Amino acid sequence: MNTHSISRRRFAHLLGIGATAAIIRPRFTIATEAPTVPQPAKPGVVRLSANENPYGPSARGHEAMKNAHPMCNRYPDEANDVLIDKIAKINNVTRDQIVLGDGSSEILKLCAETFTGPTQGKLIAADPTFEAILEYSKACGGEVVKVPLTSSFGHDLEKMGAAAQKGLIYICNPNNPTASITPKNDLREFIGETSPETMILVDEAYFHYADSPDYESVIPLVKDHPNLIVARTFSKIYGMAGLRCGYCVAQPETIKKMHGFQMWDSVNIMALAAASASLDDEAQVTNGRKMNSEAKNYTLSELEKMGHKSIPSQANFIMFDCKKPVVPIIKAMKDKNVAVGRLFPAYPNYMRLTIGKHAEMEAFVSAFKQVMAA
Ligand code: PLP
Repeated sequence: MNTHSISRRRFAHLLGIGATAAIIRPRFTIATEAPTVPQPAKPGVVRLSANENPYGPSARGHEAMKNAHPMCNRYPDEANDVLIDKIAKINNVTRDQIVLGDGSSEILKLCAETFTGPTQGKLIAADPTFEAILEYSKACGGEVVKVPLTSSFGHDLEKMGAAAQKGLIYICNPNNPTASITPKNDLREFIGETSPETMILVDEAYFHYADSPDYESVIPLVKDHPNLIVARTFSKIYGMAGLRCGYCVAQPETIKKMHGFQMWDSVNIMALAAASASLDDEAQVTNGRKMNSEAKNYTLSELEKMGHKSIPSQANFIMFDCKKPVVPIIKAMKDKNVAVGRLFPAYPNYMRLTIGKHAEMEAFVSAFKQVMAA
């Protein structure tokens, strides 16, 4: 059962920075054993494999999580409301246009469940793209159609549109694993032309890293398009991959349909507190972008010196041509304690590499030089 023992307004106050003193802290028993601190999967490994943010959540996010500890015994309804209000305000939409998810992965799963399957229609996705939604759709009995990216690594919107009939078109922009974008004018035109019976999900997980004049968010188009859903995540620029929080923006009727498939209270109170506070921390975004582009430029110039060309990157990862099959290189890098992205069968000679901290990229360059010289 979900109880509402404190008001939303009061909860917002408690979550706010500097409001810690207002919380009556319960007594804790003194632990006799050291707390178990989670360790990275393998200590010493440079992890450049999962497009994570190496810097982590903002200091405000950490503070908000500390302040939220006394609320861990409560269901997260009020914290949910606080975050929804903020997201709605930032995106200039109403509360009933937002669904929060346990990561944007939950949003992708909800879209697959709601809009694809034997009666709803096929899922149309690029090849290669972020594949989670393909698996969710197959699990719902949905047919999945893969459409190769164009020669400039954009979504082939014409072919995707032609393949769709009701169901859902998934557009990942910037795209994972290629870090490439689908130009804004093409996407806007495509959304305008697509039958309202076919849903379009635009996944903007890497939105904050994109700085090309040819890129824009399509959230402002939601008001005119009942078939448009836009997904965002707190896992990337906000550094919260382990906390799990994402959301989508769509028209209220679409949101209502998705809610029917959603588990109640799927986002935990720590993630909600950190996400709310992160949205108030503009420096998290500007610093995150800056550090990413510095480390990215360093890596790209080193690769270029070695004669490796990259797909132009608009994200916190790159995909570059190893000029020979990538699988043995991935394995050799692992032996040198550097974890890089997996094989993407559409591009067997390309490596997907997450941009970590500068020192991590230096470690990558050194290991990569040794591997390629061997
Ligand atoms: N969408 C894209 C394009 C991704 O690359 C990822 C994760 O890497 C996700 C969604 C899922 O992110 P999360 O569930 O952590 O929000």
